[in-house]
Amino acid sequence: MTTTIPGEPWSTGVARDDEGALVVAGVPVADLVAQHGTPAYVLDEADLRSRAAGYRRAFEAAFAEVGAGVDVYYAGKALLSVAVARWVHEEGLRVDTATGGELAVALRAGVPGAHIGVHGNNKSDDEIRAALDAGVGRIIVDSLVEVDRVAALAAAAGVVAPVMVRVTTGVHAGGHEYISTAHEDQKFGLSVAAADGADSPAMTALLAAVARPELHLLGIHSHIGSQILDPSGFEVAARTVLELRAALALRTGVLVDEVDLGGGYGIAYLPGEVALDPDRIAKDVAASVASSAAALGTPLPRFSIEPGRAIVGPAGLTLYTVGTVKPVRVDEGLVRTYVSVDGGMSDNIRPALYGARYHAEVVGRLSSAEPVLARVVGKHCESGDIVVHEVQLPGDVRAGDVLAVAATGAYGRSMASNYNHVPRPPVVAVRDAASRVLVRRETVEDLLALDQG
Ligand SMILES: *Cc1c(COP(=O)(O)O)cnc(C)c1O
Repeated sequence: MTTTIPGEPWSTGVARDDEGALVVAGVPVADLVAQHGTPAYVLDEADLRSRAAGYRRAFEAAFAEVGAGVDVYYAGKALLSVAVARWVHEEGLRVDTATGGELAVALRAGVPGAHIGVHGNNKSDDEIRAALDAGVGRIIVDSLVEVDRVAALAAAAGVVAPVMVRVTTGVHAGGHEYISTAHEDQKFGLSVAAADGADSPAMTALLAAVARPELHLLGIHSHIGSQILDPSGFEVAARTVLELRAALALRTGVLVDEVDLGGGYGIAYLPGEVALDPDRIAKDVAASVASSAAALGTPLPRFSIEPGRAIVGPAGLTLYTVGTVKPVRVDEGLVRTYVSVDGGMSDNIRPALYGARYHAEVVGRLSSAEPVLARVVGKHCESGDIVVHEVQLPGDVRAGDVLAVAATGAYGRSMASNYNHVPRPPVVAVRDAASRVLVRRETVEDLLALDQG
């Protein structure tokens, strides 16, 4: 038998019934397929909400313990729809957006502007104006030119823009370890590393922001990476940011009120992987920032964090239908069974983009056939169109089988494309034994509607 259900990496509402068929929050997989077709993204609403609330409670409790406040921003880029934004808002989270489109969805959901953050390394004037119009709580400034740009647009709008300056601390994390480098070769943020005794780019931008009356400098922002499983990176980055905050106070007398520690909290994608525990990481980071601030002799700021993947990733799965099954001899004695499904890199680009690994199971039935080494592939015209690189599937896997891929809630739908003119799958929410469509399936008519002929 080749099943890990229930358990990680599946959402908490996932089970198998007596015949071995998947049930998501009380809805049998056969009903989901009959009602919504495949491929389909399925979201376990209760699981998503409890992860959102869990992060908020864990951080509020741990930071209260050291005497600091904290806000949790859901990083909308992981998966954003009006319903998802409303759910996280109802669970007491704020919402981070990175484009005018994401901002529009959060506003449509009724998230108050004051509870929205606006990111982006290349915001257009229109996007900045839309953010100011909406009265967003913070615009995270990503370059020195943007300090001037936001100030000019705020002046034109007759408002004072609340801003944070995004800095790069040299700490990079993702996967199991973190690395620390002085100079960064990437597009985001402003480096805290100073060259030849000059002010660092981060300090230069902070000084510029302090000097502009059209800006209210709320604080400093740092995001160190994604899918982080080693908490020490957060602690090193936080210490660096608190040092910069203290240095700015010495220079200007302005001790900024807020520090954002970004997102990147890692989840389980494969059986046996262990997600970061929000309670543990919150306690570790709170204790660490408290000791850093004490060493610097500065009072603690208000903190914020920005989890995306950790809120929606485990709450989602993707359902596919198997089409063709092809054993391929890849080596003496090694046969890989290629299992083609009715989606692929257009609905989950992560395996092709960065070699991301996923887990899949046949979920329409329970098979007692010997497992075989399988690779789940899509229907696109690329040999790199891989959904699951390597997984044991029952040897009798066949056309018509329904396959579920676990933990696809984050960066699946949000990075989906129409490659090969494949319409994008729907996002279906399941809760209390009922399903409903959050984002409907695209049709070929939708695609043709854009084509002006
Ligand atoms: C992507 C991103 C996040 C969320 O990252 P996750 O890995 O999904 O938690 C948070 N903050 C910023 C600035 C980001 O770019």
